Amino acid sequence: MYCARARSHFCGMPKNTVDPSYAFAIFLLGLSFGSFLNVCIYRLPLDLSVVKPRSACPRCKKFIAFYDNLPVVSWLILRGRCRNCKTKISARYLFVELLTAALFLGCYAYGGLTLTTLKYCVFGFLLLGLIFTDAETKLLPDKLTLPGLAMGLLFSLLVPVHDVASQFLPGIVNLPFSADLAARLLSLLDSLLGAVLGASFIYGAGAVYLRWRGAEGMGFGDVKLMAMVGAFLGMKLTIFTIFAASLAGSLFGLTTVLAVWIKRTNRFRRRMENLQAARRRGWQSAQMVYRNYQMPFGVFLGSMALLALFVGNQFLRWYGRFWW
Ligand SMILES: [Zn+2]
Repeated sequence: MYCARARSHFCGMPKNTVDPSYAFAIFLLGLSFGSFLNVCIYRLPLDLSVVKPRSACPRCKKFIAFYDNLPVVSWLILRGRCRNCKTKISARYLFVELLTAALFLGCYAYGGLTLTTLKYCVFGFLLLGLIFTDAETKLLPDKLTLPGLAMGLLFSLLVPVHDVASQFLPGIVNLPFSADLAARLLSLLDSLLGAVLGASFIYGAGAVYLRWRGAEGMGFGDVKLMAMVGAFLGMKLTIFTIFAASLAGSLFGLTTVLAVWIKRTNRFRRRMENLQAARRRGWQSAQMVYRNYQMPFGVFLGSMALLALFVGNQFLRWYGRFWW
């Protein structure tokens, strides 16, 4: 039953009783979806089909037999190498499979066997794919973000987004529909507003950055990613995602610059005696790295959207206590 008051996000939901056999089945399902996600991460940026042909070793081109293609197990048995040519297979394959399985399991533990769980498994699956693709190739494929946006909007008709429109509009406007239909439409409006807010915020920030630093900081991939996130999460959690990602990104940038500075200073120190000169040279070097480094911001946006899914509402309620 569709209830406008129900929280669509996990936080605030009573914890579901976990059935061990369902949990195991969902974990296995997560592993196989993770395995498929690895194919997407490798093939989508190259514009290849994710269905055909069968998986092959990128070096020796030999097709991978089904018994070497089992999630996690095969990677461990082969110790991360191709059976034929012994080329190393990235630990990312193992990592993505385990993460997807853990995510599915986490969604089930919170939401039980519900449409909400399905919605967030789909959302998390897309986010993991986008995070790892951005980290490896600095691309956020349209084939993930655009269907993701459409699915976020569609899911809002089935699972309430419960954001600003659903909270405040029923007292102000009277929709000439049944209560059920009105609630679904308001949820769709919340989803749309989230998508528009997410996309326009990133688009605006990108335009400001371009004027300020004369380089492209955020691409259209990030804009589409945030449209998708907004459609799934609604406006409030979209703002949370953007701020948390900016904070995480800045901290990461700062740590990187400091680490480079210390490392380069030590290297220059070994060549010249003067500590101050070495520090200055190290600093110049760190600045160069900073200027040329292109941060995959999608990684931060995607990870913070995942965080928002699990703890965003709790954080907003805690934070709200200081203000009203
Ligand atoms: Zn090979």
